[in-house]
Amino acid sequence: MSDTDSLLPCPFCGSNPQVYSEEKHDGCKMFEVLCDNPDCYGSTAIGEKDNVVKSWNNRPIEDALRAELQQAREALQKVVDIFEIWEMEGTPAEGQYELCQIARAALATEKQG
Ligand SMILES: [Zn+2]
Repeated sequence: MSDTDSLLPCPFCGSNPQVYSEEKHDGCKMFEVLCDNPDCYGSTAIGEKDNVVKSWNNRPIEDALRAELQQAREALQKVVDIFEIWEMEGTPAEGQYELCQIARAALATEKQG
């Protein structure tokens, strides 16, 4: 795995980042992650390699949004599951059918994205 493989895309523009290194006067090597997009200034602070990679990949807002998305996906799946029970028990009402179609469409969109 190269350095780039372990890095998430830039959180600002979605471009690929690179790890850059620079040797200091004392021979110590310092690292920085920079976005490859010349119009973007996404970067980390300069530091130890493991720390800059960890810093670049730290995405608390994305992680929270993914958790919320997963909850929404699970709620939609419950709607579909309940509809299928209604369907087995008899003909669902018009509104129930529409609700299930909306949930199924949303779940299908999620799988594509
Ligand atoms: Zn960027």
